[in-house]
Parts: sequence; C-alpha cells; structure tokens
Amino acid sequence: MAEFDMTFKLLMFGDGGVGKTSLTQRYVTGVFVDSQRITIGVDFHIKELTLEGKRIKLQVWDFGGEERFRFLLPNYCRGASGGMFLYDITSLTSLSHLVDWMQIVRQNAGLVPILMVGAKADLANLRKVQPQEAIETAKANKLSGFAEVSAKTGENVEKTFETITRLMMKKLAARSATSS
Ligand code: GDP
Ligand code: MG
Repeated sequence: MAEFDMTFKLLMFGDGGVGKTSLTQRYVTGVFVDSQRITIGVDFHIKELTLEGKRIKLQVWDFGGEERFRFLLPNYCRGASGGMFLYDITSLTSLSHLVDWMQIVRQNAGLVPILMVGAKADLANLRKVQPQEAIETAKANKLSGFAEVSAKTGENVEKTFETITRLMMKKLAARSATSS
C-alpha cells in the first residue's frame, strides 16, 4: 500500500521580503523564526496532512524572490499542482508585481490553482493594501481565492494551506475524470 494517496508540488512565489520563507516555516514547523536569512535559489519542504480521508504529501517549494535567481523560475514551476502568490499587506509594490510573476508561472505550470495571499496581517497599523484591492486583482488575473495570513501570529496559516490543497485535489479529480 502506498504511503500517500496524493503528492502535490506547491509553489510559493512573490517578491523578496514578503514573507514566503517565514510562512513556509510556520506551516511546516509550527514556529515563527524572525530571520533575515535570504533564500538562495529554492528551498523545498515536505508537509504531510490528511484531508477528506486522503493522505497527502505536500512539497512546498519556497522560491528565492531575488532578481538574480529569476533564471531558475521556469524550472521551478514545472510540474507544480498549485501555488500561492504572496504580497506584503504593507507594500503596494509587492502586489503590483503579481502580473510579472503570474506570466512565468502560467507559462511553466499551466492553469493550476493559485491563491492570492496577503502576508504579515499582524502589521495592520502599517497596512497599504486593502483586502478589496487584492481581491479585485486576484479576480482580474484568474486566481482561485484570497486570504490574509500572519506567519508571526499563525493567523489563518493552516487554513490557507488547506484551502489550496483542496483546490489542487479538485483539479486532480477533474483531470482524472476527463482523461478516463
Ligand atoms: P521572503 O523573502 O519572502 O522569504 O521573506 P521572509 O520570510 O524572509 O521575511 C522577510 C521579513 O519579514 C523577515 O524579517 C520576517 O521576519 C518578516 N516577516 C515575515 N512574515 C511576517 C509576519 O507574518 N509578520 C511580521 N510582522 N513580519 C513578518
Ligand atoms: Mg525567502
């Protein structure tokens, strides 16, 4: 018997500094590490979860958003089942780069579900992006949903990874149905 019913490759993408590594760490290890460490290239983490009675292995690919690593991005996207686009709620610029990121992701990963994720929700007093603006941007770019999270407090973290996992499960089921 296989150990897992499904394996998904999940991409974390968005500008450097928006909180991809912190969110990934928080989800995978359950703690917030206030680190200044820059991700070099790509880090990859495994999380096991059970949803709807299925044992799922989630491979979380945390991309180093720094410009000098962009050449890795097309390869990093290949074979992905879904992704999270992260922006920082205190930075309008980080949201405005969605289109550039999505172009590369769509080209290399296809029409997989992508969530719009506003990070650092605990910094509400420094907020520059209103949820409504992010939701409209998500719709205009055919993303599959929206959430705000905080890696620092843990707010919405588990739930958001579950949401994207459910969307990837749905997509897989739809694909199996049409190919049989
Ligand atoms: P990445 O470049 O997208 O991987 O971003 P990092 O995860 O390295 O985070 C960049 C900075 O933002 C670090 O100093 C983190 O401690 C900080 N940070 C990340 N997530 C949060 C959060 O949820 N709340 C707060 N207040 N700071 C955060
Ligand atoms: Mg990082």
